[in-house]
Amino acid sequence: MHLDLEIFSPVHQIKNKLFDERGLSVYIKRDDLIHPVISGNKWRKLKYLLKKAQFQNKTHLVTFGGAYSNHLLATAAAAARFGFKASGIVRGEGITNDTLFMCRLHGMNLIFTDRDSYREKPGLFNKYFGDDDQAFFIDEGGASPEAARGCSELVDELTVHYDHIFCASGTGTMAAGIANGLTQHKLSTQLNTIPVFKNGSFIAHEIDRLLTAPANYRLHTDYHFGGYGKVNDDLIAFIKQFIAQTGILIDPVYTGKMLYAVYDLAGKDYFKPGSKILAVHSGGIWGLLGMKDKFI
Ligand SMILES: *Cc1c(COP(=O)(O)O)cnc(C)c1O
Repeated sequence: MHLDLEIFSPVHQIKNKLFDERGLSVYIKRDDLIHPVISGNKWRKLKYLLKKAQFQNKTHLVTFGGAYSNHLLATAAAAARFGFKASGIVRGEGITNDTLFMCRLHGMNLIFTDRDSYREKPGLFNKYFGDDDQAFFIDEGGASPEAARGCSELVDELTVHYDHIFCASGTGTMAAGIANGLTQHKLSTQLNTIPVFKNGSFIAHEIDRLLTAPANYRLHTDYHFGGYGKVNDDLIAFIKQFIAQTGILIDPVYTGKMLYAVYDLAGKDYFKPGSKILAVHSGGIWGLLGMKDKFI
């Protein structure tokens, strides 16, 4: 098995009046262009997990997720792309939706489980795959030091200095990886992250666990819009306008909230005039499919 993990993730500028008036240059790192399905940070997060599985001669990826999990879908597509078998243990029973349809289409075997037993992931792995010596455990969301390492490589690709980098946080793995990348390159860039959960300050603990050295990052905890997967009319209007003005698809769960924060903070004169800001498009646009009804 050969893992061809070359990627293409250009940086594009976002031009508009708001940024011009404040003397800001805002760019977006197009990790969404890495792959149509294994998109954004999920590619980076899976990279070293796939290498590890291959190194251990494992041919069967087993992972976990909610019914709308971008990670589940990315794992299904990565397994298909690189010749692994894949199983997904899904939280909840009797569900069908577009994400799960896409997982199945990529050949992933889905196992549904109730919310209580879902909590005990190693137990579930052993129950279903304990005697499959080809099975390789990947935690929910891919959270792991390998995943953080993959995300740190985003910083290796930057060719100019940014004053700020913005990213969304679910598990905090990507934020930790980017912070580690900034440390490795001795960059003074301010990392800003937007937890997509309510009361998101707990994410600092998750980020800190994956840091290779103490890092200075900022959490903006006021852009969760009511919690994970929650939206309001403001956010939906912003997403529609952003897509129509830039031609870049964003999703309501992660990148929509993160970019809303960048625009909102710019409007509130949070940034020094002359600042260069990089927003990370971490992919996940299939998440739009689960929210079609919110856009009517
Ligand atoms: C999973 C995901 C995130 C969250 O990444 P973490 O490493 O879990 O913080 C952000 N954006 C998108 C589009 C995602 O799919």
